[in-house]
Amino acid sequence: MVNCSEKKMNKKYNIIVGGGIIGLLAFKILNSFDRNTILIEQSNKLGGLLTSFKFGNNYFDHGPHFLRETGNKKLDSIMFKSIKSNWNAFKSLPQSNYFCGTWNKNSSYIDIRKKNKNLSLYLINYLKNLSQTKNLKTYQNEIKNFNLFYSNKITKLIILPILKKYVGRNVELLKQKSRFKFALNRLIVGSPKITNKLKDNKILDNLVGFNYYSDGVTGKKNYYPKNGGIENFVDLFLNKKDANKSYFTNTSIKKIKIKENKIFYIETNNNKKIFVKKLIWTGPADFLKQILENKKTKKHFDIPKYYWYFFHLESKKKFKS
Ligand SMILES: Cc1cc2nc3c(=O)[nH]c(=O)nc-3n(C[C@H](O)[C@H](O)[C@H](O)COP(=O)(O)OP(=O)(O)OC[C@H]3O[C@@H](n4cnc5c(N)ncnc54)[C@H](O)[C@@H]3O)c2cc1C
Repeated sequence: MVNCSEKKMNKKYNIIVGGGIIGLLAFKILNSFDRNTILIEQSNKLGGLLTSFKFGNNYFDHGPHFLRETGNKKLDSIMFKSIKSNWNAFKSLPQSNYFCGTWNKNSSYIDIRKKNKNLSLYLINYLKNLSQTKNLKTYQNEIKNFNLFYSNKITKLIILPILKKYVGRNVELLKQKSRFKFALNRLIVGSPKITNKLKDNKILDNLVGFNYYSDGVTGKKNYYPKNGGIENFVDLFLNKKDANKSYFTNTSIKKIKIKENKIFYIETNNNKKIFVKKLIWTGPADFLKQILENKKTKKHFDIPKYYWYFFHLESKKKFKS
């Protein structure tokens, strides 16, 4: 990396802040129209959450495990066109779920028939009635949503005991959409035939899970390198030719000067002034807010109360540790 001073500072640049996948993609697109584009990354390497580390012979990924095609042809071509045969391309990813003392190796969703067949009939009828609702109003509080989507009875008998196991007390504080974190955004309620019929309805499609994960396959490919970790993706994105003069690591913005309602220039932590054509911010919005307001607050705003991830890893080979 070269120092920012090697750029002519009175020239205007498109500045992308953040070298995660979004920043790298923004750079790739913008740079193809206008070569006066630079990317500023505060840490010492590019990739953001797209990083891996090697432990023994195994690679561990910090964040994303797979990168999936978006379905937008233009975007997919920009993102994935340089992927070669040294990458795996999976059309579906195996999912499983443990409920009522047994594994379901066909889906990540809970199959309520395992608990009680009568409950399944009850829920199917409840859902059929719900599907007639014209404007389904959802709540900020997730338990209220569960009561609405799956009935008070199913929430009490199935959902709440599971959530209590996951989050302990204060389940009632869970915010809207927490259900996605626990794969409780859908339930399996009946046979594949019943499932398909219910899923024809727009509301129920979001509440009823396919019986087999392969049924919901969109055809979009999920990519993962055959060797190494997901971090390899960063190399596919970099404009190696321009790397030295376009990507600035160990650099952050300390000031944004606004003149006549436009961003005029930015000042970096190493006291360089760069005049701005366009500024694209891909870091956390609260950092931007702090710079614009010229103050440092200790707290991030609007951090969800519960934001947990659970992973279950299976390997045919023994992990070394
Ligand atoms: C555990 C986990 C698993 C995930 N699994 C998947 C998956 O399998 N598939 C998938 O598609 N997605 C997955 N995601 C989501 C995916 O990781 C993110 O959506 C994506 O990486 C976000 O990219 P980004 O560029 O927006 O942000 P980031 O990757 O966070 O990058 C932001 C970059 O901006 C830099 N930055 C921040 N502030 C400043 C500043 N002031 N100045 C300069 N630089 C700054 C940061 O250092 C960082 O490098 C997962 C996320 C997590 C946490």
